[in-house]
Amino acid sequence: PERLTTPERTAEDADAALRPKSLEEFIGQKAARENLRVFVMAAKSRGEALDHVLLHGPPGLGKTTLAQIVAREMGVGFRATSGPVIAKSGDLAALLTNLEDGDVLFIDEIHRLNPAVEEVLYPAMEDRALDLMIGEGPSARSVRIELPRFTLVGATTRQGLLTQPLRDRFGIPVRLIFYTVDELEHVVTRAARLLAAPITPDGAHEIARRSRGTPRIAGRLLRRVRDFAHAAGVDAIDQALADRALTRLEIDGLGLDAMDRRYLHMIADLYGGGPVGVETLAAGLSEPRDTLEDVIEPYLIQLGLVARTARGRCLNGKGWLHLGLNPPQGSQT
Ligand code: ADP
Repeated sequence: PERLTTPERTAEDADAALRPKSLEEFIGQKAARENLRVFVMAAKSRGEALDHVLLHGPPGLGKTTLAQIVAREMGVGFRATSGPVIAKSGDLAALLTNLEDGDVLFIDEIHRLNPAVEEVLYPAMEDRALDLMIGEGPSARSVRIELPRFTLVGATTRQGLLTQPLRDRFGIPVRLIFYTVDELEHVVTRAARLLAAPITPDGAHEIARRSRGTPRIAGRLLRRVRDFAHAAGVDAIDQALADRALTRLEIDGLGLDAMDRRYLHMIADLYGGGPVGVETLAAGLSEPRDTLEDVIEPYLIQLGLVARTARGRCLNGKGWLHLGLNPPQGSQT
């Protein structure tokens, strides 16, 4: 079953409607926003394409949104694709040769490019050139094709997933971090306005603090709570209603859902609080290791419930308390 709090995009997300359209409108991520603003202004004033940008951070924090904003602020076209979709080097060549001068090409999940495709990307990023092999066998030769100026915006959950040569070719690495509750309250209030859903400030606050630091989840929870409000015949979403709705949806006070709690319980109940290896946890939970590392763990670590150590994952004192359990004697917390 779909997790309500999965930060990954799901079909029902009306992401597009809620996307901020300018850096001005984009909430939070102050450091990322200010860096981008400077680089965009500088590139524009020199009449150049923006240097290649690598956006990295957990899903649902606004990477796609920022890529679109960059294109808009640069006043250029936007093309989007994703790593796993580009199967052959020819597919990438076709994409690149069809770009217009200055375009932004957005590649989501860029760490999942196949190595042959990645090879084509290097000269494209560096020299705006495409090296094509013509013919076969001994008569084969390589021809170089010039490409239009373009900006590659790559997105990935963790910078470390990229190969070093690919990482080196991005002039502007931008890290996105989890949003604060205040920022998310802003996101919820703005989304409620766009959805024409009346909400009180404490209602927005309740949804914000249970959104796992993630705007995509905030938008999704707002829609679910709004459904509850409709069903209850309530006009405005207030704190009590938001709390009732989210509790019914099994999202706890920290925004953790059943999957997060299963993860915590596995470390507590089966491994005495750890350390336990991530592979063992992945097997026990029947979840891919990547999902644990990219989606589930970052927020639990940010909250200080779990620690990632060289010997494996450990439950912190806060983690035990959140489960309503006492940490074992002598455990480090
Ligand atoms: P990612 O590409 O990192 O997975 P998206 O850019 O698709 O994330 O954003 C997910 C959702 O969250 C979108 O609906 C978007 O409108 C919303 N969102 C992201 N960042 C912000 C922000 N700073 N302010 C308001 N809404 C945001």
